[in-house]
Amino acid sequence: MGCVMRLIPMGGKNMTQKPILSIADMSIVFSSPDEADIEAVRQVDLTLTPGKTLALVGESGCGKSVTARAVLRLLDKNALIQRGSITFEPKGEKPVDIAKLKQDSLPLRAIRGNQISMIFQEPMSSLSPVHTIGDQIDEMMTIHEGLKPKQARERTVALLDQVGIPGARERADAYPFQLSGGLRQRAMIAMALACKPQVLIADEPTTALDVTTQAQILDLLRQLQADFGMAMLFITHDLGVVAEIADEVAVMYLGDVVEQGSVFDVFAAPKHPYTQALMSSIPKMARKADRVRLSPIKGTVPAPKDRPEGCAFTSRCPHAFEPCPTIRPARTDLGNGHHARCHLLTRVPVEEPA
Ligand code: SF4
Repeated sequence: MGCVMRLIPMGGKNMTQKPILSIADMSIVFSSPDEADIEAVRQVDLTLTPGKTLALVGESGCGKSVTARAVLRLLDKNALIQRGSITFEPKGEKPVDIAKLKQDSLPLRAIRGNQISMIFQEPMSSLSPVHTIGDQIDEMMTIHEGLKPKQARERTVALLDQVGIPGARERADAYPFQLSGGLRQRAMIAMALACKPQVLIADEPTTALDVTTQAQILDLLRQLQADFGMAMLFITHDLGVVAEIADEVAVMYLGDVVEQGSVFDVFAAPKHPYTQALMSSIPKMARKADRVRLSPIKGTVPAPKDRPEGCAFTSRCPHAFEPCPTIRPARTDLGNGHHARCHLLTRVPVEEPA
């Protein structure tokens, strides 16, 4: 299948399904010995539902990866979840607030890589260079599921086959450096899926790949999601990928979710000036062609320490007006789960003099 950007995506919001993961009012603060604390993520609310994909989109430095890593508590040592909750409610189990679990505690280790898995842009962040692919995947299943080595190897071979690695049984004995970039990515996906996670977090997993391999990996993830029924949180700065894979999208700017809704609603009628700028940064011809990365919009994302008290987008917004630098816009509900934070949405229109 070609990876053609669909501006009218296929996915739709399933309002009836119970979320499996709910991030509520979460703020993440970075501390440094020399400077004041920096709020890198501000009161974020996100929910993931089984079988659906939520894309987190925005330029670099907007807090997407920090938000995603917080779910598995993989934040740097100087980062702290200062407020809010991350409620994980696997089917048939009691809900647990991941934000409150102790680092390296047993419940957190049981969730990581088992019930919630993560894949990265660079497969070598999860694959060990000194162990074969097969041994690494086998180990996931012997540790988390108590499988015997022989059973684990059979499952590993089946999984490598399922993610499209040809000659799976022989390739299981290969070291990561013996595989091409695309096959390494597939091996990492196989490892992430080894324990049939209920949530998969994908942090720019196709960014480093060539266009054809990107398309294949996206197809594979969609297929595996249908097979496994997992919820997916997909981080990208590529609107084409969002249209291709996601049901819902949350647009982040400087730590704030500035707009969120079904991909259909947000792409059809973006309400926040940042989303509008992202959308209009796609050349019109390219909308019909291959996937397109966000071309930079005017200016750059300021450092979190320079964020104004009010709307984070003030310094780059062509519509900024009097309350924007000082008053943070409230979340405006636009219906059907679509919402945005912008003063323009609540401004009472001023009548032009006759
Ligand atoms: Fe622009 Fe003001 Fe809206 Fe922020 S609140 S996006 S600065 S108009």
